[in-house]
Amino acid sequence: MENEADITGTTPRRRPKPHVLEIGGRKLKPSTLMMGHGFDPALSENSLKAPIFLTSTFVFENAAAGKRHFEGVTGKRPGGADGLVYSRFNGPNQEILEDRLAVWEDAEEALTFSSGMSAIATLFLAMVKPGDVIVHSGPLYAATESLIARILGKFGVTYIDFPAGATREEIDAVLVKAKAQGNVSLIYLESPANPTNALVDVEAVRDARDAAFSGDDVPPIAIDNTFLGPLWSKPCEHGADLSVYSLTKYAGGHSDLVAGGIVGKKALLDQVRMMRNTIGTITDPNTAWMLLRSLETLELRMSRAGENAEKVCAYLNGHPKVETVGYLGFLEPGSRQRDIYDRHCTGAGSTFSLYLKGGEKEAFAFLDALKIAKLAVSLGGTETLASAPAAMTHLSVPDDRKQALGITDNLVRISIGVEDADDLIADFTQALDAI
Ligand SMILES: *Cc1c(COP(=O)(O)O)cnc(C)c1O
Repeated sequence: MENEADITGTTPRRRPKPHVLEIGGRKLKPSTLMMGHGFDPALSENSLKAPIFLTSTFVFENAAAGKRHFEGVTGKRPGGADGLVYSRFNGPNQEILEDRLAVWEDAEEALTFSSGMSAIATLFLAMVKPGDVIVHSGPLYAATESLIARILGKFGVTYIDFPAGATREEIDAVLVKAKAQGNVSLIYLESPANPTNALVDVEAVRDARDAAFSGDDVPPIAIDNTFLGPLWSKPCEHGADLSVYSLTKYAGGHSDLVAGGIVGKKALLDQVRMMRNTIGTITDPNTAWMLLRSLETLELRMSRAGENAEKVCAYLNGHPKVETVGYLGFLEPGSRQRDIYDRHCTGAGSTFSLYLKGGEKEAFAFLDALKIAKLAVSLGGTETLASAPAAMTHLSVPDDRKQALGITDNLVRISIGVEDADDLIADFTQALDAI
């Protein structure tokens, strides 16, 4: 590399090594790219790591540049801003984070948000108008269900759903009904569904969508990929156009931040970005910086959590005080769910449902006896968490719907972390003994 004089012409400034995405025809893996991709140290005093850019606005080189940037931000010129303008629109930390997040799903682009829910809300606001129909898989994350039914409902948007495990024929039938109900502007999926763990056949949804719609009427398919993404599930490879994340969970991974993301097709994300620019649901620079640190260890953390979960579930399965273990690694060979799993997933994750023998009394005794696992809702952190959905996250769900979804009083939801697997097994052993 040549040394180049900096703009003052006094101190020679060494340019950073050029950005590499491949070496000798070998495409570099996300785990390699997480340490440098999208960041040019020369733009930050040659700092190895990106500083946190705490600023609300950015200085233009000249008036013409200011005009050019605003043409990008307002959509007068397609493709977004080509420079930094104002921190409600973008910022260096967010842009580096978005470049890196996109790498995990080999996506054209990524956007990040102040929470998983603000990502989902911004997506919906960008895609739907009064009279439109959202077709969705069920169940969805509870706040997403309220957003669709209660909040968008106030603005004349309707919905129709199909169960997560639906077949191509069942999805076809729902699309026929949806088209009769109004203009279908979005197909929204969540897989695996929370807390049933039922997987959606994204390939079947894509085929059904492509058969039912043509031309400008083809609705995009977006999917909440929080539970298995980005390591064990890459739904854009199976027909989804957008993959949505609560980055609060595995991507953040340390239970110390709240954020969201969407990766996928640029043409769709351009529409979502316009909405985000308008309402200001972008993630903040500090959180974006924390996520850059998180993504460096994403593969290590998720791999370890996945291995731990496999060991813990093998131990729990068949334990005399356990009724069943709802873990994706135990899907019946030959079953439809197993077929979906084999086509769409590369790992079973580390979040599962433990059904104890008994009811609430037994579930609470187990939870209260745990010493390593913390009693808290959420998932995907370095620490193991356990909770009772029927009494906590799903307390307000009507009883018949709870029953239909398998949210029974003896259900304990567990998210396994990166601790020592045998220590976790020792903890579960003593907690089961305490029931
Ligand atoms: C947590 C979660 C969300 C919401 O994300 P927040 O970051 O809490 O706003 C959405 N979907 C799924 C599947 C989740 O687990």
